[in-house]
Amino acid sequence: MGTIAIIAAVILGISFMTFVAFFGRLPALRNTPISFLHRLIWIHLPNSLITLDGFLTGGRLSNSVTRLAHYLWYDQHPTILIFFFLLLSVGEYLYLPHAWPYLSSTHKTLGVLAIFFPYLFLYLSAFTDPGTINPQTHVREMARYPYDFSLFHPGTTCETCHLLKPARSKHCSICKKCIGRMDHHCIFINNCVGANNQRWFILLLLSTAILTLYGGVLGLQIIRAKIQARFPYWSLMPWWTSRQAWESGELDLHRWLVLWSWGLQSGVAMGSVTLLALLTTPLVWGLLGYHLWLVYCGTTTNESMKWQDWQAEMDEGGVYKRRMDSRQREKDLKVEPAWTRWPVEAEQVMVRTDDGKPPRSSHRLPGEGEWEAVWRLKDVENLYDIGLWDNLVDVFSPYFMFKEAKGRGSPVDEREFGRERGRGRRRSS
Ligand SMILES: [Zn+2]
Ligand SMILES: [Zn+2]
Repeated sequence: MGTIAIIAAVILGISFMTFVAFFGRLPALRNTPISFLHRLIWIHLPNSLITLDGFLTGGRLSNSVTRLAHYLWYDQHPTILIFFFLLLSVGEYLYLPHAWPYLSSTHKTLGVLAIFFPYLFLYLSAFTDPGTINPQTHVREMARYPYDFSLFHPGTTCETCHLLKPARSKHCSICKKCIGRMDHHCIFINNCVGANNQRWFILLLLSTAILTLYGGVLGLQIIRAKIQARFPYWSLMPWWTSRQAWESGELDLHRWLVLWSWGLQSGVAMGSVTLLALLTTPLVWGLLGYHLWLVYCGTTTNESMKWQDWQAEMDEGGVYKRRMDSRQREKDLKVEPAWTRWPVEAEQVMVRTDDGKPPRSSHRLPGEGEWEAVWRLKDVENLYDIGLWDNLVDVFSPYFMFKEAKGRGSPVDEREFGRERGRGRRRSS
């Protein structure tokens, strides 16, 4: 039991501490042992180490550690990318020699494909330009999306790049440039996830999710077959498939675990990789599900945080919207694109006011009619959600023309593109 118990304990321990480190701050876990552990790891432990270091080296050590941590978090470098690459490669190196002889030719073929695709999509995610905004690409990036007058208002300039910020773009402080339809900066690919590489990122998540699940299940089957070859009454779910042995007492929990570890130990390397694959599978599928959910909602990680901020503002009161008829609105062509490839334009203006009263300076804000107080996200429209299919088209074909171009410079005639396609569906989250 020894080796396996240690490996399992280490893997479980690391998973638990990762969970504490990332989620210990959640309000739902306040006043629980998890939030206490989180404070211990992030506040009390570093503080006591800094105090100790102050006595021992006059603070020199903690200075360099702080600099290193800052470098790891805030600079662009491939450390985590290399770690991810090694995790894949070393895992496969440990797993394959043991598993290969047990695999049918179908599983051998599928296995090779399952191993190949994560590498391909890792390469494409990491080395495809995510949609850098510079003087050469600015016109193209401005024509990607119209401003929605809610999350993105025309006329703001990036203080670092000195260019007008296109709708849905964001300046990445790690890559030190503005990125079109910025989702987030991902340290695993050492690159931003933006308009031009989001498709590769989603395929990387999908192929990795399939690889861990497939490898985990195959490994489990190999181990099971091995145990059953010697102990035919053993099964993975004894109360279900070995009911007789389980009820007669021939197989109890202790014996079941002992035979399990016997099976794992007959190939420790493959057994550990199988365990690791099974433990990481829910995490990878969860990340994939989250990113597909964002696509379904027609939003990005960056925008979903902005929407959450808006919800907080709405809770306090002081958020107002009013209608805007894009056919009558004259564009300010100094700050707005004359033309975009997007099928819909903003029909609402959303603003917040400090005093909680409706905005007074109506001449500066476009739109018509009375300002209406907004209390819930589902009462505002997400311009960038045009239905699941078209959202997917937008992600997988970043320059897809959603409407026939009338030539640059001509204003969009929205009547042609179907009002019924709508402002995107209303946000429900
Ligand atoms: Zn910038
Ligand atoms: Zn970045």
